[in-house]
Amino acid sequence: MSTKKFRIAMQKKGRLSVETTELLESCGLKINKREDRLIAHVENMEIDILRVRDDDIPGLIMDHVVDWGVVGENVLEETTLERQQEGLPVGYNLVRKLDFGGCRLSLAIPVEQEWKGVQSLEGLKIATTYPNLTKRYLDQQGVNFKTVLLTGSVEVAPRAGLADAICDLVSSGATLEANGLKEVQVVYRSKAVLIQRDQELYPEKQAIADTLIRRIDGMIQAHG
Ligand code: ATP
Ligand code: ZN
Repeated sequence: MSTKKFRIAMQKKGRLSVETTELLESCGLKINKREDRLIAHVENMEIDILRVRDDDIPGLIMDHVVDWGVVGENVLEETTLERQQEGLPVGYNLVRKLDFGGCRLSLAIPVEQEWKGVQSLEGLKIATTYPNLTKRYLDQQGVNFKTVLLTGSVEVAPRAGLADAICDLVSSGATLEANGLKEVQVVYRSKAVLIQRDQELYPEKQAIADTLIRRIDGMIQAHG
């Protein structure tokens, strides 16, 4: 595999994949889509698409493995905080904010419980997939708590007796409601972003980046 080829990392399957594919296709990329391939080739440009879990995208950018990535700011910021603690590089350039993938990371508690502000979480157990964003927020508020780290099914943790509250992504709130929870405080607001690794690109790659950015900006202008 030539290192000269422009590499774009995107979520393989999930909430960002359809709109990311649409974005790239409206930039003129003809992506050869075969469902379970890690790498999809672009037929009409010197570009490879890496299809991975969204959680891996910031690291691929920060380790200079790919040139561009599309990921939620929530995952980008959480990974940055985690890597800072581990002493790993955290550099990236923000290319453009995108107009999809909007959601918020929020604290939620059982509906029957009275909410008297974040101070009422003092000393409690909070289940989350975002321990660093949660801690940064609650540290700012001066609230001590215990993290229960879960990578899935966070919303069932209170009912299962694993935690007193959760800090999880919300868009409509329907999932919270279905699990007997209510949103009480927004911790972080997120959208999808297009990011680039923070070293200079080869001239051939820079030319591709320039072309794609021009097309993206054209679309942003056209659609408001
Ligand atoms: P993967 O298998 O790639 O790790 P995932 O389960 O972590 O997938 P998704 O649920 O597909 O991820 O969410 C991907 C991103 O979509 C989130 O990190 C967030 O930026 C965004 N998003 C938008 N709305 C929501 C929502 N209601 N719930 C969760 N994520 C949302
Ligand atoms: Zn993920």
